[in-house]
Amino acid sequence: MATIFSHPAVPLAVGIALGRGVIPSRLLGFGLLCSILPDVDVLAFKLGIPYGAMLGHRGFSHSILFAILVAVAFRIGSKVGREHPWTTLLFLSFATISHGLLDALTNGGLGIGFFAPFSGRRYFFPADWIEVSPIGASFFSARGMVVLKSELLAVWLPCALVAVLGFALRLQARSVRIPEDKPPG
Ligand SMILES: [Zn+2]
Repeated sequence: MATIFSHPAVPLAVGIALGRGVIPSRLLGFGLLCSILPDVDVLAFKLGIPYGAMLGHRGFSHSILFAILVAVAFRIGSKVGREHPWTTLLFLSFATISHGLLDALTNGGLGIGFFAPFSGRRYFFPADWIEVSPIGASFFSARGMVVLKSELLAVWLPCALVAVLGFALRLQARSVRIPEDKPPG
């Protein structure tokens, strides 16, 4: 896995880029939660479920179907996104699957079961930009520092660029609109 600190960076960046008009704070909060949710599957180790099994680590909970089910469950089970159900479903699905997408950029462990339960195949992207975070390892060890450095470069830096670019585009769009709103002088 990438670390628990870095998974929320993706929905956070998209939320900032699109703004509160599209992604309200409450929906953004749910998105941050969704981005770390797939790693509840580390419980599988305690239950004796093998890593490579469908319900093992990086299996079903990292799949596209799981991401959709989580989004539907949050949408139905909470008041969030009642006014904009499709935006809510899309954003929460994206936030959840972004977890597996980041994990697929790591350089260790088994790949990601994106198509579970329909296929047991595990996938990595060709690029392995993120140092894998060993389960249970200390963030303050030398290994932890290597992991955090790779995440700063491969996750936080691009996410910051997306957030700043989106924010700047929104500001520009607003400044273009303002003169049009003025009554003719
Ligand atoms: Zn994971």
